[in-house]
Amino acid sequence: MTQPEQILGILGGGQLGRMLALAAATLGIRCHVFAPESDSPAFDVAAFRTAARYTDAEALARFAASVDVVTYEFENVPTETLDILQQTAPDVPVRPGRRALSITQDRLLEKAFITDQGLTTAPFADISRPAALEAALQSIGTPAILKTRRFGYDGKGQIKIASAQEGKAAWDALERQPAILEGFVPFVREVSVLVARTANGQSATYDVCENSHRNHILARTVLPANLSPASEAFARDAATLLAEALDYVGLMAVEMFVTEQGGRQDLVINEIAPRVHNSGHWTIEGADTSQFLQHVRAVMDLPLGATLRRHKVEMENLLGQDMDRVPALLAEPGAHLHLYGKLEARPGRKMGHVTRLLAK
Ligand code: AMP
Repeated sequence: MTQPEQILGILGGGQLGRMLALAAATLGIRCHVFAPESDSPAFDVAAFRTAARYTDAEALARFAASVDVVTYEFENVPTETLDILQQTAPDVPVRPGRRALSITQDRLLEKAFITDQGLTTAPFADISRPAALEAALQSIGTPAILKTRRFGYDGKGQIKIASAQEGKAAWDALERQPAILEGFVPFVREVSVLVARTANGQSATYDVCENSHRNHILARTVLPANLSPASEAFARDAATLLAEALDYVGLMAVEMFVTEQGGRQDLVINEIAPRVHNSGHWTIEGADTSQFLQHVRAVMDLPLGATLRRHKVEMENLLGQDMDRVPALLAEPGAHLHLYGKLEARPGRKMGHVTRLLAK
């Protein structure tokens, strides 16, 4: 059983860390949040806070000595940070582990890993030299998308290429960083699946959700997704397979494209997020166990909770430019409003979200 004095360490102090800490508190688990920015949204709700760089070995050692388990809320935690934690506190588990992080941080390793499991991704090629780009544009064709291997999110670090002639300029614009070229998937919709797994191999998936983006940022998630029962089952099985192959501990999201041709629906895996995910915010009100609580349960060696959804659900992200809608949302019956406590409402910045449960 969990002891009330158990402490969960969270690397990263954004809204995901904030919602993790809030969920942990419902089980009497206190959180120590480690993040570089002193105004991190998760600091407001954490029992303990460290504002330091991710490579500050002394601060990391103090942090590790104060917690029972370490997790993270974003995938760009340097693997160096995990190495420092492993050296200074080998008995404190880091969950999800280093392998899941290093594979999912690198689009090339990630796509190779997914196809190794027998699942489909967009066609892809490793771009590290100009000659590789030319050859890949020939074999994959256009339209295609050039993406940096590392540090891409919300559409950053990627450029669509309409014709082979645009290839060189696109790679120059990405400062010739190691990249992959991906064939453009003519998808009809985008979906994602959440899966949680414990250290002893118990796993649970959630209903598939359908996502729409605006300017590469998630705008809305709705459930149920417009998928055939067979595709819904396939998506959940694929997510479970990936979690098992990664020996994953915690909750992760798998983003997928849905294609339709001649009445046939197929799923193409886009990427794995080794953390709680924006498209899973609906679970706070819409599922028996929220993704945040599920992640806490998984990493703290507690049994997973039920994932049942009892309503149609829609979740809408609130960006900086949406903040003037807050008074109306506060007045709307049944609108579950979440604000992340960010002081500055810049356009495009995720400030909160609102979830509505609709009749079945
Ligand atoms: P990503 O950063 O890989 O999640 O990509 C961000 C968004 O760009 C996705 O949600 C898609 O809308 C779009 N996108 C990325 N890769 C592809 C692809 N291979 N084909 C079509 N659209 C893509």
